[in-house]
Amino acid sequence: MTELVEHWIDGALVSGESPRTGPVYNPARGIVQREVRLASTADVDVAVQAAARAFPAWRDASIAKRQQVMFKFREILNARSDELGAILTNEHGKVLSDAAGEIARGLEVVEFACAMPHLTKGDYSENVSTGVDVTTVRQPLGVVGVISPFNFPAMVPMWFFPIAIAAGNTVVLKPSEKDPSAAIWMAKALQEAGLPDGVFNVVHGDKEAVDALLEHPTVRSISFVGSTPIAKYIYSTAAANGKRVQALGGAKNHMLVLPDADLDLAADAAVNAGFGSAGERCMAVSVVLAVDSIADELVAKVAERMATLKTGDGTRGCDMGPLITREHRDKVAGYLDTAAADGASVVVDGRGIEVDGEPDGFWLGPTLIDRVPTESAVYTEEIFGPVLSIVRVDGYEAGLDLINANRYGNGTAIFTNDGGAARRFQREVTVGMVGVNVPIPVPVAYHSFGGWKDSLFGDAKAYGPQGFSFFTQEKAITTRWLDPSHGGIDLGFPQHR
Ligand code: NAD
Repeated sequence: MTELVEHWIDGALVSGESPRTGPVYNPARGIVQREVRLASTADVDVAVQAAARAFPAWRDASIAKRQQVMFKFREILNARSDELGAILTNEHGKVLSDAAGEIARGLEVVEFACAMPHLTKGDYSENVSTGVDVTTVRQPLGVVGVISPFNFPAMVPMWFFPIAIAAGNTVVLKPSEKDPSAAIWMAKALQEAGLPDGVFNVVHGDKEAVDALLEHPTVRSISFVGSTPIAKYIYSTAAANGKRVQALGGAKNHMLVLPDADLDLAADAAVNAGFGSAGERCMAVSVVLAVDSIADELVAKVAERMATLKTGDGTRGCDMGPLITREHRDKVAGYLDTAAADGASVVVDGRGIEVDGEPDGFWLGPTLIDRVPTESAVYTEEIFGPVLSIVRVDGYEAGLDLINANRYGNGTAIFTNDGGAARRFQREVTVGMVGVNVPIPVPVAYHSFGGWKDSLFGDAKAYGPQGFSFFTQEKAITTRWLDPSHGGIDLGFPQHR
């Protein structure tokens, strides 16, 4: 019997009515290891109804109670992160140390959510008019939907649900159907932490489940992370259905290396940020813009480091694991042919490398392509794999122009020892997250995460202050305690006196 990953609704595993299932691979072995339920519209409705029933009591639970659940969830995550890490490596393929990093970055948001009593304090203005006070409070929205991608099956859901839940909302999560088990592990951990049934629900599925969430009248908001075409669709469809939306999309992150940079540090950074998680990170560096005078030296240093990387099964102490599916592996490998046809030079070819893993795994080794023409699909498309492109530029201005002309604006980095150039860059670049000698500038949990341009649709970034604001609505209350001297009729517009 094939193992089936079930939905989690109202505090229990649920099969639902849909007979459809999808394959869940072990990418390091190239086999289907289990199947996942694919929810129907009716299955999603059952989850939304459960979340709606749980909302009034959860909204009315004290902040202290909601905070305690988050503290306990944090303890469970810390104590048993190895269990969750093993699930990530098993279904996604990333190496165990990288899985631990993913969990640690999700944990930061849980810790931010533990500060909910401080976040919800609100404002108070005394005596705005004689005897009149105004206070603003922020209250939860109700049932909120979260739709997440395959590449961070634990961290990306944790960008949203800890804040949503601690603020008093109830959640329906639709994780990626490619690696669905981490969501179920977290649902059980939340229950163990004391979260009432129905506050956090997981429905697995594909477009049918997503559309059901986008169109459900009870769902108040949608938080999405995934590719740009789907992010655009989510943004327009959810907004047309009257929902609050934050939809984070794809990326093509450039790292600009100026001639005065420490080239050893820059080469280390390019390799770490290019090939960590096999390049399947929205903040991966996929393009290095090398100023001509140092380009040859930098390319040599990057290639030298790449030769030391061990690709293989994430449980065996390798540096880099497989890609998510065979189809995706073949698509990424196809860019090597495109590169050759477009006149770029393939410096390191990741095809046919020796791996420490099963032969049928979805392998592609670290790949380096130099002199990539900016018209080539290797440059214009998001590859989302272990392929690092070098584009040579004649200086700062040319590098900046390329970054600013790019349709994506998720992350970028400059490597330099010139403070003036770095300062100019951080002001002039049209990208949402900027690193100065930091290759993957993912903001800490008390700042917010999100890109510009085609990397984010909507006006709210993920987590941090913007995440809190997204999951709450502000109410302004004007109060006057009447005494008999205030009587009388006056139809004029209220004025401050
Ligand atoms: P994806 O867009 O294929 O899928 C994301 C989610 O949307 C999944 O839950 C999936 O089931 C659902 N989905 C897929 N096709 C759909 C459709 N036609 N209609 C409705 N829903 C659909 O993305 P992915 O391949 O899982 O993840 C990789 C992408 O995510 C990359 O483009 C990467 O850059 C991006 N990403 C962005 C960020 C960010 O913060 N900006 C973070 C992580 C990943």
